[in-house]
Amino acid sequence: MTVLLVEDDRAIADAVIEGLRANDYDVKHVVLASEAIAKVRAGGVTTVILDLGLPDMDGTEVCRLIRSFSHVPIIVVSARETELDRVTVLDMGADDYVVKPFGIKELVARIHAVMRRATGSVAPITHIEVGSLVIDTKTRTVSVNEKSVALTPKEFDLLAYLAREPGTAFRRADILRDVWETTWYGTTKTLDAHVASIRKKLGDPKWVESVRGVGFTVRSVS
Ligand code: CA
Repeated sequence: MTVLLVEDDRAIADAVIEGLRANDYDVKHVVLASEAIAKVRAGGVTTVILDLGLPDMDGTEVCRLIRSFSHVPIIVVSARETELDRVTVLDMGADDYVVKPFGIKELVARIHAVMRRATGSVAPITHIEVGSLVIDTKTRTVSVNEKSVALTPKEFDLLAYLAREPGTAFRRADILRDVWETTWYGTTKTLDAHVASIRKKLGDPKWVESVRGVGFTVRSVS
């Protein structure tokens, strides 16, 4: 699940990012309202956490704009408690709100609640399809053109990680942090070896493309 955090206060943003990542959320962070709207438009965002006081636009306006094209759950965050009565929040199209300062536990609980209301459940995505590539994270099985592919546990984790957002170029450092849980750059050779092995097993190197200077992306091979 990808949470888009729209917050211009660096200290608050850092704390929220760290707290949400510790709770297994994928977090994207932007500072400007315009970036937030672009990210939601681009897709893949499952919840928006929106600060009301932003440099380029008032959060209430951002809320209304997002609502004009998306049903993504929005949790409004503000220090301005007086503004945040339930009626105002619902009126601007948000699903819930938290008042600063707030704890991560509270925020995570709110995210769960809005996700549950939005999707009817908070079950994680277990079925990933990228063209003829099918990944089931529950049974940890992979198939291409309905032919099963045997991956090692780490190869599986890496492929599932990349395939959750097809076309997204993942940075090497992020992959190492999220899949290997290390920031030691020496492991980058390990990453290359795993990618090489996955390509071989999937039968076409184009499934996992190298993005020069960045890292890797999974794309549908037609
Ligand atoms: Ca602010």
